[in-house]
Amino acid sequence: MTMDLQKAQRVVVKIGSALLVDGDSGKLREDWLAGLAEDIAELKANGAEVLIVSSGAIALGCKVLGFNRRALQLEESQASAAVGQVALAHAWQQAMASKNIIAAQVLLTLHDTEDRRRYLNARSTLTALLKRGAVPVVNENDTVATSEIRYGDNDRLAARVASMMSADCLVLLSDVDGLYTKSPDEEGAEHIAVVDEITPEITAMAGSAATDVGSGGMITKVEAARIAVSAGTAMVISSGRVANPLKHIKEGARCTWFPARETPFGARKRWIAGTLDPLGAVVVDDGASTALQAGKSLLAAGVVNVEGRFAKGDAISIRNLLGNEIARGLVAYDIADTQAIAGRKSSEISEILGYRGRDELVHRDNLVLIGM
Ligand code: GLU
Repeated sequence: MTMDLQKAQRVVVKIGSALLVDGDSGKLREDWLAGLAEDIAELKANGAEVLIVSSGAIALGCKVLGFNRRALQLEESQASAAVGQVALAHAWQQAMASKNIIAAQVLLTLHDTEDRRRYLNARSTLTALLKRGAVPVVNENDTVATSEIRYGDNDRLAARVASMMSADCLVLLSDVDGLYTKSPDEEGAEHIAVVDEITPEITAMAGSAATDVGSGGMITKVEAARIAVSAGTAMVISSGRVANPLKHIKEGARCTWFPARETPFGARKRWIAGTLDPLGAVVVDDGASTALQAGKSLLAAGVVNVEGRFAKGDAISIRNLLGNEIARGLVAYDIADTQAIAGRKSSEISEILGYRGRDELVHRDNLVLIGM
């Protein structure tokens, strides 16, 4: 909905390698990072939660190992990422610490955002970090995730993170200040300020305007926009080639916005209630039913019956004693464990199951009320 970085409550900022790492020396651009840290501190001071998706591990590591960045074998990229990620995390830790902000390194593979069980886990961890005011600095786990090291991946990763975290704004800091009708150095190229709909024409324009010298071109940015917008996250492509790139956007810099038509909250509810097929059901007592109506999570204590075949992270239907569906949600336990803890207090869960799971059977963030 928002096209205003100033108003965003939860922001994901993606930074490409070319901005963070000097192409010739392979060294970190520390002054630039310091400027960005100021901007992040300001967003946080205004009450926003901030997550970073930072590239740069391979670019930083390959010089150290003596590899030629232009001709890296797959295992050389992975080795470079292993070396560079240490330096990258350190740089972020220092840059954030200078603003009294805690940085947290989070290395993900696409499966962590695609597989629902892992997705819920990553979401909970990131939420716990945000609650404590920390700034998660996300990158791909390039060293082990072979299929992930490929063109444009961090654009997509950033969009997945934004969607998973229900961010209301995703900022892609790039070499260029947005999308053009053709390559910006060609005659007659026109800048596009707002993309209301990602039409085939827009995709075609992005294909012809592959100007970004990092691994992600415009086409991956438009793909990222598609993911972001469908999750209710507005996206902006803006130039990072300035000292304070986020302030620059707030001051109305030329950039390309992809506004979202719904809120992240609305998109998530639609996804849970409309897109996923429930694979089972729990019947809950009147106390739990009332608690759900009041916006609470579903605890095992209120469950009187369990049906179906479901795994952790699957969608289930929640019914009242009359058999009416009152809610749907993503369940934190598989069916066997749900049966084992049904009717029992959360404090008893670890003793019954032999491991410490979540306190809620269905957390309220993963729950949608139906038909009432
Ligand atoms: N994950 C890679 C790195 O940190 C960058 C991939 C990308 O920018 O798309 O070097």
